[in-house]
Amino acid sequence: MKGITLSQTKIFCTTFLIIFFSYSAMGRSIHPVKDDPPEISDKAKHKKPAKITTICLDAGHGGRDAGARGRKSTEKQIALEVVLKLGKKIEKELPGVKVIYTRTEDVFIDLYARPALANKHNADLFISVHLNSFSRQAARGTETLVCGFGRMDEQDVAIRENASILLEEDYEENYGGFDPSDPSSYIVFSLMKREYRDQSIKLASLMQDAYTKNSRRVDRGVKEQSLAVLATAGMPAVLTEIGFISNPSEEDYMMSAKGQSEIVQNIFNSIKNYKNSVERK
Ligand SMILES: [Zn+2]
Repeated sequence: MKGITLSQTKIFCTTFLIIFFSYSAMGRSIHPVKDDPPEISDKAKHKKPAKITTICLDAGHGGRDAGARGRKSTEKQIALEVVLKLGKKIEKELPGVKVIYTRTEDVFIDLYARPALANKHNADLFISVHLNSFSRQAARGTETLVCGFGRMDEQDVAIRENASILLEEDYEENYGGFDPSDPSSYIVFSLMKREYRDQSIKLASLMQDAYTKNSRRVDRGVKEQSLAVLATAGMPAVLTEIGFISNPSEEDYMMSAKGQSEIVQNIFNSIKNYKNSVERK
């Protein structure tokens, strides 16, 4: 008897979960506090970071946490090399953009401290660089992760904190005159949260495009995952897996100056394209 196949069950469950989480997320955003939420101006609804001026770069792992290990290298070491080169390139070629690093040396940093640093500096983007690993040596390619629905709640506090920092600076400009102490502001936070997710997916897609089109890397796609390091970032945030350290030829590529410069160029291009598209609006 065939009945429902495993893949059909999977599709059904996935669809159910998507509908369930969309519904519950919608429920929160539509009726956050009061019976009769006041109208929010279009300007506030469509608030976007007018400019990308601060980018937080996060080299995965560090110190006692080596991350994945290859034959000749460790994840923490290659991630740091790539991040430092990327930061240098951004500061040189994107004038007016400040780079902050969660680490610039081989030190251990708590997972939650990473996005917290980005929040503190009011960063416009958070980019975490990691290397993949798998038991099968043949596994290869790049993938870029954004935070899944399951952890979107955790962003609330970060977004609120970020917003209050914004308020101290260009309050009128950023919020079109809406009152942050008004309960209706929660609707805006919820909209911001959805927007961060959309923007994260956009940046992640540009990154995957750059890897595959410019350097013919294998495209493993943009994925949603419940990741602590992204969950509390109050800005668009992605985690990019630049290749498999468990695959000897990818390890060699990621260790080489040529490979690293290609990866850096690809990430840089995606940031530049993302920045242009956000700032055009
Ligand atoms: Zn990692």
